[in-house]
Amino acid sequence: MATSALLLSLACFSLSFRAASAQSTSPFNRVTQQQWDALNASVDGRLAISVPLAQPCFDSVEGVVGSDSLVPNTVRCSAVQSVWTNTTFRVQQFGAYEQIFSERLHGEGCDLNALDPKDPAAMNTTCQLGSIPPLHIDVRTASDVQAALEFANKTGVPLIVKGTGHDYLGRSSAPGSLALWTKNLLGQTFHEEFVPEGCDESVGRALTNEAGVTWIQAYEAADANNATVVGGAFQSVGASGGWLMGGGHSFMTGKHGVGADSSLQYKVVTPDGQFRVANKCQNQDLFWALRGGGSGFGVVLESTIAAHPAYDNKVAIVQIQNISMDAQFEVFRVFAGLRERLAREGWGGAFLPQFTEGTMAISMVNPTLSDEEAADTFAPVIDYVNSINGTDGILVTTNGFQPSGNYLFIQRNYIATVPVGLGAFIGSRLLPLSSFTSGNETLDELITAMKAGLSKIGPGVWPPMEILMDTPLLTPDANNETSMHPAWRSSAFVMVYGVSYEFDATQEEEKELMQTLHEALDFVRDVTPGSTEYNNEADILTENSQEVFWGPNYPALLEIKRKYDPNNILTGWQYVGFDKGAPLYERYNL
Ligand SMILES: Cc1cc2nc3c(=O)[nH]c(=O)nc-3n(C[C@H](O)[C@H](O)[C@H](O)COP(=O)(O)OP(=O)(O)OC[C@H]3O[C@@H](n4cnc5c(N)ncnc54)[C@H](O)[C@@H]3O)c2cc1C
Repeated sequence: MATSALLLSLACFSLSFRAASAQSTSPFNRVTQQQWDALNASVDGRLAISVPLAQPCFDSVEGVVGSDSLVPNTVRCSAVQSVWTNTTFRVQQFGAYEQIFSERLHGEGCDLNALDPKDPAAMNTTCQLGSIPPLHIDVRTASDVQAALEFANKTGVPLIVKGTGHDYLGRSSAPGSLALWTKNLLGQTFHEEFVPEGCDESVGRALTNEAGVTWIQAYEAADANNATVVGGAFQSVGASGGWLMGGGHSFMTGKHGVGADSSLQYKVVTPDGQFRVANKCQNQDLFWALRGGGSGFGVVLESTIAAHPAYDNKVAIVQIQNISMDAQFEVFRVFAGLRERLAREGWGGAFLPQFTEGTMAISMVNPTLSDEEAADTFAPVIDYVNSINGTDGILVTTNGFQPSGNYLFIQRNYIATVPVGLGAFIGSRLLPLSSFTSGNETLDELITAMKAGLSKIGPGVWPPMEILMDTPLLTPDANNETSMHPAWRSSAFVMVYGVSYEFDATQEEEKELMQTLHEALDFVRDVTPGSTEYNNEADILTENSQEVFWGPNYPALLEIKRKYDPNNILTGWQYVGFDKGAPLYERYNL
């Protein structure tokens, strides 16, 4: 569905939005037609009306600018139903986000049933624009961003940036906001010798991705040049947006560190309206903030990341069915016992338990070991898993090494996906390596807490728990070149709990799920004092989030934020410098 097909007459912007908006005090309603026209002219006519993806399936629609001209359409509805849970399709649409929390407002939205997109019950209501920004600019140039910043400063209309719409905390949407959509910035350049602008020397091979490039496109470009880049597990996540600025963990983190360790240069428009190049030779403070400080320091037009050698990655997969929670954690105990060795050897991977007696899985990737070396390292897990096969009904369906290959091959063949098009909240906690090396009592305490949290989460469509071996133990960042919390460098795992909900969840049910997730994490927080949580995979209710995410780096980050964004124009939930009480955050139902 081309965006242009959704463009409606600009003449009805102010009037229709005022008529539909519940918040009559919204700055959006005070914008005059002349101001919209001027903004549209300054971005070469690329100001567009946002329409929820599923609108053709609904008889009535509210909140969309010019909604009078929108009618149901069975052919288009059927097309949307067939791709509702397709992430590649969703990231191409402005009116769709990966999780419906980004689209909903106080429990209302315009959603299909992700488990059965043809379910008429979901469509038997009014389609609400919800938290989707009513208008967006299809960004092509730095001057588009500058025009939007000037407009936001003058009018007070909140400005947000949307790349792919993957953000779990709904920060690439906001009700009554103007959005900058970077999806169509798709240029890529591979450099055999990359000299950051303003520097004299090459820093080696590198890949530049404009802001709309996703990780699968970056993996393809790296692969075509016999290289590997450190990127996200989910292929449709953006390569230059929230993932990279927030730090970014990867199956390659064990070998090459987090995404922030590999970033070499950004081109951004900072919220003060200036186009800037940030790297180790200029705007160094901004560069440091963009290496792990999260979103909000500027609108990124492109980033350049290191291109590492291509590898023949060894892959081990374990899948076990009908295994109790206690038995799963006994497998985890054997696996975690190898953690120091796995770190030294640069492994990445994931341990994925289940709440119910379903299928649990382990996926392991090593870029540099030989077949024999990899098999030797992982043998204790394989042997233990074989030893429990058949006991208490446990059924081991896969247990061993799979065909190896380059990172693109690994991505295409082995990386599991998560459901999209439904509601999900997740929250993370990094598990310190010391919890695994300080004796049985400490480990028992941690495992008891992890199980208690998992029991609290309960069953669901979403993976209830992921234990990701994506921590940079081999990459100490001794000179504090990134702004990530130092605890990342001494952590063994990124542990993530997740809960999900359907189209018909009420605001109260959403709120209860957030609380459940928060309380599940509390069990693990209690036994991991001083650890950190990942700002991109964060519990919305994390208390004192800025200290928890960035620790000793927070004061410097706040200073940099104030320098480049004195009016806090580019802000979002849990960003550096966010004001929890701002009207923008009423949507969090707190
Ligand atoms: C299915 C799934 C799998 C994931 N897997 C991983 C993983 O393996 N490792 C990991 O570390 N994280 C992972 N994440 C979390 C991911 O890092 C965050 O969701 C991240 O915020 C996504 O960034 P995005 O730019 O693609 O998404 P968006 O929702 O478009 O943006 C996220 C944030 O970045 C801002 N932003 C986006 N583009 C720009 C830009 N050009 N300039 C300025 N600000 C911008 C937005 O305003 C928003 O605050 C995953 C998320 C999902 C949903």
